Amino acid sequence: MLREVALRVTRPRVAVLSAVHDHPHADTESIIGAVRENLGAVSHQAVYDVLRALTAAGLVRRIEPPGSVARYEARVGDNHHHVVCRSCGVIADVDCAVGTTPCLTPSDDHGFVIDEAEVIYWGLCPACSIAPSS
Ligand SMILES: [Zn+2]
Ligand SMILES: [Zn+2]
Repeated sequence: MLREVALRVTRPRVAVLSAVHDHPHADTESIIGAVRENLGAVSHQAVYDVLRALTAAGLVRRIEPPGSVARYEARVGDNHHHVVCRSCGVIADVDCAVGTTPCLTPSDDHGFVIDEAEVIYWGLCPACSIAPSS
């Protein structure tokens, strides 16, 4: 994957990319933890730099729901959406049910050429909606 986007293959890049693959929607701290299990000592800055490079190259998608830290996923390019739990912050993928370029037909496009849509659904995850509210 790194070679396809002309990024030099380095152990930190491989470790970060596989951590993002293995932990969808993980935040930077969890990714650093997973990378350290793999590589040993790696600085925060190194992981941040790799995440930025992978995001810029389109191998990783960065999402940042309001009120949440940035999270990363390796599922890119399919314009899928997210549902976020208001209580515990867990995030799940939502495939749009409509066609191959989902949700790209706004009721009014204001003359824009639209190529991406991002919807965040908010609510309570199954675990939190069962728990008695305090
Ligand atoms: Zn929840
Ligand atoms: Zn996702």
